[in-house]
Amino acid sequence: KGATFHYSTPAVQLVLDDSGRCTGVIAKNESEEYIKYNAAKGVLLTTGDMAADREMMEHYNVTLGKIIRYNINTNDTGDGQKMGIWIGADMDEFACGDLWPFAAVMMDGTLPTTFDGTHFYAGVANLPMLMVDGAGRRLMAENLPFQSPSIPKLTCTPDGCAWTIWDSAWESKVPQGGYMVEDYTASNTQEEVDKNVANGVTFKFDTIEELGKHCGFDKDIFAASFKRYNDLCAGGKDLDFYKDPLWMTAIDTPPFYASKHCSSMTSTRGGLKNDERCRVLDKKGLPIPGLYAAGNTAGSFYGNVYPPNVMGSGIGHGQCFAWLAVKDILGMDFIHANI
Ligand SMILES: Cc1cc2nc3c(=O)[nH]c(=O)nc-3n(C[C@H](O)[C@H](O)[C@H](O)COP(=O)(O)OP(=O)(O)OC[C@H]3O[C@@H](n4cnc5c(N)ncnc54)[C@H](O)[C@@H]3O)c2cc1C
Repeated sequence: KGATFHYSTPAVQLVLDDSGRCTGVIAKNESEEYIKYNAAKGVLLTTGDMAADREMMEHYNVTLGKIIRYNINTNDTGDGQKMGIWIGADMDEFACGDLWPFAAVMMDGTLPTTFDGTHFYAGVANLPMLMVDGAGRRLMAENLPFQSPSIPKLTCTPDGCAWTIWDSAWESKVPQGGYMVEDYTASNTQEEVDKNVANGVTFKFDTIEELGKHCGFDKDIFAASFKRYNDLCAGGKDLDFYKDPLWMTAIDTPPFYASKHCSSMTSTRGGLKNDERCRVLDKKGLPIPGLYAAGNTAGSFYGNVYPPNVMGSGIGHGQCFAWLAVKDILGMDFIHANI
């Protein structure tokens, strides 16, 4: 319908008139020239999140500084949020990450070079077996869904990492067709485990003591955690964390395996405060005339958590609220906007 797209021309600054209305944006083209775009009706900021600006991200959520694996859009440097802040817009006080909890990490904290794309979980290490911190202490009900296993790692462990421990009889013990037995992030097969052992991503030892020593766990803490876990499994009830009993299977068949994992992140959530019409708000809570935000540039939506039980809310939020913002910019009734 005649729209023109100006690629490689990032917006750098908003333009305000004397009344404080946002009347345009200044952008920079590939020849490093600044171009001013006048906006008769309004400016909608949709420059995405701020995951590629580490300083900004850590400012809004210090625990995200522990993220080791970033699966991010490297253009998302929080430009829209910054441009808004510079003209007096208010910003969410807190950002959260869209987290993926089981990204494989090498012993020294670096990422394996043997994985690529979305295949970055070590086989079986993403299943809810026994999960301990670097001292060998059990951390949580390992079967909590989606990003929940990231939370103890990011808030309780010094390096943001944890270990999964399992045994050679895992295949006969895990619920078939159960939670994450096979997904696109990991191939949960013995073949994959063997491959990872060869690659140094997973460790295999004949005794649990040797394994614990190799992983650097505290001998006594790990011995106590391991015994307690197997005792609870024998009783069929997780009296410490209440993991689903289906996954309370003893780790008793040598050789034993361990794999270290960290949290990975796709994007941050948290942005410019805005009202029900997507109008960006100033520090008094009043709309800045002519300025809108949507998608991950916009705040006032997630609070401090990206909810695991609302699938597609990242893309859904971006598409839906950008559409509503445009309706409002065009003067259409936002409440009855053909929903
Ligand atoms: C690996 C991965 C997997 C994901 N999986 C899911 C999923 O399964 N479901 C889901 O709902 N969400 C998922 N998400 C999140 C989802 O992609 C984002 O929430 C959504 O894309 C956000 O949309 P947006 O328009 O706000 O920002 P983006 O899609 O990030 O778009 C922002 C755009 O603005 C551009 N830009 C940045 N700065 C400027 C500037 N100064 N001037 C002009 N342009 C600029 C960027 O280049 C980018 O093209 C995933 C994200 C990743 C990275």
